[in-house]
Amino acid sequence: MTLRQAMNQAKKTLTPFDALCLAEHAFALDKTALRLQADTPVDPTHFFSLVAQRAAGEPLQYILGTWEFYGLPFAVGPGVLIPRPETEMLVDIALQHKPATVVDLCAGSGCIGLSIAHHLPNTQVHLVELSEQALPYLRKNAARYPNATVHHADAFHYSLTTNHYSLIVSNPPYIPTHELASLQQEVQHEPAMALDGGADGLDFYRSLAQHWLPKCDVLAVECGDGQAQDIVQLFGGGQILTDFNGIGRVVLAKHAQV
Ligand code: GLN
Repeated sequence: MTLRQAMNQAKKTLTPFDALCLAEHAFALDKTALRLQADTPVDPTHFFSLVAQRAAGEPLQYILGTWEFYGLPFAVGPGVLIPRPETEMLVDIALQHKPATVVDLCAGSGCIGLSIAHHLPNTQVHLVELSEQALPYLRKNAARYPNATVHHADAFHYSLTTNHYSLIVSNPPYIPTHELASLQQEVQHEPAMALDGGADGLDFYRSLAQHWLPKCDVLAVECGDGQAQDIVQLFGGGQILTDFNGIGRVVLAKHAQV
């Protein structure tokens, strides 16, 4: 079977984008090389097993094992939330503020805090994550940055809160519990712990307001569609920033601003 025939077979069950990404991965060739070698005979066994995984609903990012965020590669896999492009807004905010110290709460893969650590090498970044499943990815990603420290801890029962920080960032779980079952198939493969924000989705913002807002100059959080106003209330004030779809996606609050 040639590469072209293997690709055509894959495209019967997958989108051309997914088929191309998996072919690049399985054959260790970039898309130009795949095209130039289209008539080369290949053993498609490994490729077809990845295609079957994807067709069964496994997220593309988990099969590939890395995903790009803020132009940087992050190790991902089952047990850790897949970085989303809208979350890059939190990194933009951090780079504008040039904080001396940062805490990334519910760090997951570490995509937010580590992108900040990458661009601000003199900033000390603390990444806090509770999930045993997420930690190996976080530790692997953080190993690239001497200015990043990983803490295996519950964000709300932790001695880090005895200090004061320039900036706290978080993309906490914010899906209301009753909506979890109706999320799209790929998201069902992601850890519920990274998604479940309690009955109204706002549990983490309540705890952030109580435990962390008094400990920082600036608090910047991501939130779900329709939640931003409620979060501004919980924080006692704040600014709402919209994402590229016009959704209020980030709330920026300053300690004691009201
Ligand atoms: N900070 C990580 C991200 O934004 C993980 C967030 C989470 O697990 N809720 O991808």
